[in-house]
Amino acid sequence: MKWVSLLCLCLSVSLQSSIVSPQSLRTDQGYEEFATTRTFKGEASDAPEVHCSRKRSKAAWKIIEEYLIPYVEKERYQIPRTCRLHPDNDLYRDQEQHKIRTDIYEWQCGYCKKRFYEESFLDKHFDNRHYNLLNVSHSKCLADVCGALHCDLAMGAVPHKTKCNPAAAARNKHLCEGLADSCFPVNQGPSASRLHEFFLRQFCDALTCTGSRKPFSQGRRKKRMSISYIVISVLTLMLLLLYYTYLYIYRRGIKRGTQELKRVSLTQSGRKKKPS
Ligand SMILES: [Zn+2]
Repeated sequence: MKWVSLLCLCLSVSLQSSIVSPQSLRTDQGYEEFATTRTFKGEASDAPEVHCSRKRSKAAWKIIEEYLIPYVEKERYQIPRTCRLHPDNDLYRDQEQHKIRTDIYEWQCGYCKKRFYEESFLDKHFDNRHYNLLNVSHSKCLADVCGALHCDLAMGAVPHKTKCNPAAAARNKHLCEGLADSCFPVNQGPSASRLHEFFLRQFCDALTCTGSRKPFSQGRRKKRMSISYIVISVLTLMLLLLYYTYLYIYRRGIKRGTQELKRVSLTQSGRKKKPS
């Protein structure tokens, strides 16, 4: 009987192990999957410069919006999709358009409605939660044309004492002229050739080490300050002023009150001490 029970025990143990082993394999696979997604996430959030910098793409888009689009709209010209400055060629355009600013300290994700105090947190959220929405299959990174668009200058990231690198300047100029050719082909009519000329003056001319020409020489779109913005800022200033004057008066009142109390208590104690 003992032998039989021992045999049964051995059998059950081996059976259990055979059942367990595929499960452990599965969990291992699961872990591996988790690990790869983690590393991908890590790559996406920690080192975006490697693939496509969100910050630089944003800077490039801002420059396009301010220094180019107003003139393109004025000419009623349609930028072709083959042009790298076309909105569709900005990897982050869709995410950027899904940023909802509801208040000064409130940013909302347009995909899942989650709220954040700062834009940078929303950027991180996009990196971590919605990276699958980025179409990374095409190499469309707006940050790649930053050299032509003077992103560093716009971002205030140009150190004053660094020497201009002639090779880099020439490369950027070549890139810039390529953009002018592909975005505003001169054979596409008068508006395209006018914009072609404009683009060269606005962006490409300054890409030399001589420093004789300044970027954005053709000007920028003037930001119209909305009346509501002015009203709100004036009102907040007035409210702040009122608050501080109230605080000042209140504190002075308290000080005076305590001083008077002290005086009263002093005179009282003096009267009390006199008879003894
Ligand atoms: Zn979201």
